[in-house]
Amino acid sequence: MFEDLLNKYLWKTVKERIYNSSKEEVMSAIYKENKHPDDFFALLSPAADAFLEELAVISQKITRMRFGNIIQLYAPLYISNECTNSCLYCGFNRKNEIKRLTLSGEMVEEESRLLFKQGFRHILLLTGEDKHAVSPEALAKIANNIHSKFASVSIEVYPMDSAEYKIMTEAGVDGLAVYQETYDRIGYDAVHPSGMKKNFSWRLNAPERAGDAGFRKIGIGALLGLSDWRVDGFFLALHAYYLTKKYWKSQIQISFPRLKQAHGNYVPPNPVSDRDLTHLICVMRNILPDSGLLLSTRESSHFRDNVMPIGITMMSAGSKTEPGGYSHPDANARQFTIDDDRAPDEIAAVIAKKGFDPVWKDWDREFLI
Ligand code: SF4
Repeated sequence: MFEDLLNKYLWKTVKERIYNSSKEEVMSAIYKENKHPDDFFALLSPAADAFLEELAVISQKITRMRFGNIIQLYAPLYISNECTNSCLYCGFNRKNEIKRLTLSGEMVEEESRLLFKQGFRHILLLTGEDKHAVSPEALAKIANNIHSKFASVSIEVYPMDSAEYKIMTEAGVDGLAVYQETYDRIGYDAVHPSGMKKNFSWRLNAPERAGDAGFRKIGIGALLGLSDWRVDGFFLALHAYYLTKKYWKSQIQISFPRLKQAHGNYVPPNPVSDRDLTHLICVMRNILPDSGLLLSTRESSHFRDNVMPIGITMMSAGSKTEPGGYSHPDANARQFTIDDDRAPDEIAAVIAKKGFDPVWKDWDREFLI
């Protein structure tokens, strides 16, 4: 299990190795073809900041070689904002007095029809963490119902057990995202004061339960701003590196959610600058050439447009982060505010203008038959 590997590294020691890395160590790591975890320290170090241009050039080259000139588009569809957890940074925190809503089958249908009309064929279903509001069986039913429209259906919901993940893959859900938020156990505990999410290990082991259940895409990430991004970046890279080797038939995907203001006004204790985030994206691409790298509409249009060519392979577009947000905009509370509010066709046009192909569909379940 990855947890056994994680336990071999102390947060404090990792931090020291990163911050004490020399320019020479960066130079030796940067041009190595196959990077080893020992190289991650130097690549993420403050000393590597001076090599950002080199990292970006290599990152861009690897991305074009492995993925071609494409940016794949997807849309999130929030089914519910009901949640039993109280994550301090989240608008859906159960203690927040917001209007709670779980979409009915008809409402999901309406939302998905709008996304289909906008051109999307890859969809990400999201809920808060409340199994009673949306059970695995209910989620499987939704996935089955919308499969006629969407070639790829992914989920970002509560961590499930192995049998429940099997229900998902049998219903045709091919992708899963579960972010650890932070790999710092102490920091994790502080921002997750109650509910099932308090269980660090249950969440950490979810990608492996999903891998065993046969998900085609497994997404992981750290919520940037919670802890030191360089140290979380090390553990995130280590996690992805481990999963890539263990689940070589699946694509490991990495997201870069950067904390934004939500209901409750949580202030990120470790803000991450645009330059830092660019550094992290470049390092991930250098370490993990075959991983999908995702950038969501949390980020500004300016940042997304500039960082797109460097390593990103998937982008969300036109996102609404509240249940019912596509058919009834601004009727319900959002999980977080989005920054890039351009329409999907506008984003597709920008992608094309930059010389890339905006891809709405790159896979079909029929390929499995
Ligand atoms: S981050 Fe997820 S689990 Fe935490 S309060 Fe928000 S919806 Fe619930």
